[in-house]
Amino acid sequence: MSQLEIHQIPVLSDNYVYLAHDLETGKTAVIDPAVGGPVIDALAAKGWTLSHILNTHHHADHTGANLELKQLTGCTIVGPKADRDRIPGIDVEVADGDTYQLGKATAQVFDVPGHTRGHNAYWFEESDALFCGDTLFALGCGRVFEGTHKQMWTSLSKLMNLPDATRIYCAHEYTQSNGRFALSVEPGNQDLVKRMAEVDQLRRQGLPTVPSTLGVEKATNPFLRPTSKNLQQTVGLVGAELVAVFAETRMRKDNF
Ligand code: ZN
Ligand code: FE
Repeated sequence: MSQLEIHQIPVLSDNYVYLAHDLETGKTAVIDPAVGGPVIDALAAKGWTLSHILNTHHHADHTGANLELKQLTGCTIVGPKADRDRIPGIDVEVADGDTYQLGKATAQVFDVPGHTRGHNAYWFEESDALFCGDTLFALGCGRVFEGTHKQMWTSLSKLMNLPDATRIYCAHEYTQSNGRFALSVEPGNQDLVKRMAEVDQLRRQGLPTVPSTLGVEKATNPFLRPTSKNLQQTVGLVGAELVAVFAETRMRKDNF
């Protein structure tokens, strides 16, 4: 049983990079280092030594500093097996069902393709922390670039099985614009209306809306709510298969 201390670093226009520090052994991972400088500064401020990079997927805003940080620290790069050819400097390939040790903290690995062909999520059960990259966002989900809507729905369904208290450490601050879309497709969801007021308040103060929790997402995120009658009515698919409701919702978001 080992707990992580998690440190959030806002970078670029809307990315979040995370440091995850195993309190027992001092091992420290950076999740999806888009850029190196702010990561190096944060490590120094914390007095932590980088031992690992965990990549969720290959996009440059998630792997951009892989080689720089590896060269500087000799850290081990862990990434999705299904995309090993596109993860710069990858040392360890992991896939669905694998576990990976960050010191004494255990990450369970899920394949969550859809946004990209290979996409991992890392769940540290003992810390109630999920690093899910560009798969599940606060009030949204990633664009389906390389996979199918069915794949993305399967990926999100997998994450929905985790405990409601799981904190969702996603890789972008997209919550406010996601929420505007969410309200347009599920205007009758009072939990969503209330949450958006909180989100607007946080953003006015320049504060992050991430992490949220899975329980909150299940109550307010339209991409986890194809069972909602209000959503089904808005997208004109009452009683349709859940994957069809999800796909229609995702396509509407693409054009919102
Ligand atoms: Zn991406
Ligand atoms: Fe991204």
